[in-house]
Amino acid sequence: MSSHKIAVIGGDGIGPEVVEAGVKVLEALAAVEPGLAFDFRRFDWGSDYYRRNGRMMPQDGLTQIEGFDAIYFGSVGDPNLPDDITLWGLRLAICQGFDQYANVRPTRLLPGLTGPLRPELGKQIDWVIVRENSEGEYAGVGGRAHRGLPIEVGMDVAVFTRTGIERIARFACDLAMSRPRKLLTVVTKSNAQRHGMVLWDEVVREVVRDHPGLTVDWMLVDAMTQRMVNKPGSIDTVLATNLHADILSDLAAALGGSLGIGSTSNMDPSRNRPSMFEPIHGSAFDITGKGVANPLGAFWTASLMLDHLGEPAAARRLMVAIETVTDRGEYLSPDLGGVANTAEVTAAVIAALSGANSTSSSGLPG
Ligand code: ATP
Repeated sequence: MSSHKIAVIGGDGIGPEVVEAGVKVLEALAAVEPGLAFDFRRFDWGSDYYRRNGRMMPQDGLTQIEGFDAIYFGSVGDPNLPDDITLWGLRLAICQGFDQYANVRPTRLLPGLTGPLRPELGKQIDWVIVRENSEGEYAGVGGRAHRGLPIEVGMDVAVFTRTGIERIARFACDLAMSRPRKLLTVVTKSNAQRHGMVLWDEVVREVVRDHPGLTVDWMLVDAMTQRMVNKPGSIDTVLATNLHADILSDLAAALGGSLGIGSTSNMDPSRNRPSMFEPIHGSAFDITGKGVANPLGAFWTASLMLDHLGEPAAARRLMVAIETVTDRGEYLSPDLGGVANTAEVTAAVIAALSGANSTSSSGLPG
């Protein structure tokens, strides 16, 4: 039996709390799922590491983790440190260093949960948002000049390349084709942005032509927000730029019940380097150390990671256990209207794992 080598980076705030809960769940899963084994190695990188060492991770950090099968990540961000140190020094350093250009976020309203939409609309949510994760509005290109003067200027340049658009479009088309509805919505803003977004449209259109069985529609990003709220059942797979998808996926998380449930994968689809799996929530300093963080996002994340590792049965079993717990409603954390703490939700999911072996999907193909 071969073990999956997982680099565990809890990071900041509630990150370590939910990720350690996830490791417990994965160990419990390995105990009941034939042939499943993990070799976890912890890395204490993040803002505390920065305070000790002046860096968010060691200089050779990427080399240390490049041989792992996957990275299980918590969150990064500290109220006393600027985001360009914390985010760029760890999470984005890994995403960009490993060219994890596809960020994939599934959203479903899990059984038993009520989101802000009317129930008949809420239960129609079954989306996967594909976010371009390497360029666009977050390319880091730009600058500031004339600081403090009336003529001070700040610029961020959105960078769109043919290669970058083509590879994410291909990934999104393939993912949409692997789902039953074979339906892709491409988000754009080419009515107002006349260069990069127009190239985005042109290149996506070329890639779409190679997928004859795929139904494709196009939405301006502003109109997309309304469609997600008013007609959630008309959406399946969504392709959007780095910034657009960042915003749309927070809306998706809210419509799906709570930020504490959403999960994400940062993938290098070529599989040359490890992909990274993380809950979508941030460090949540308001609840850090209180033991009440919702770990379900970290568990769903673990299910995505299992799919990626080629363990679809284990991924499904974990999803079924999560859904059993949400459906019963007995052990829900405060963000979902319950009173259970992190440890109690974790124990409930572990207990449900023994009974869980039917069908439910993380949203990602293997
Ligand atoms: P970031 O910028 O890093 O995404 P943020 O400030 O936008 O972070 P979070 O840190 O995720 O957002 O927190 C937003 C709110 O959601 C906070 O009130 C936080 O307590 C709550 N929250 C986030 N994650 C969870 C969780 N797992 N369980 C319970 N509440 C959560």
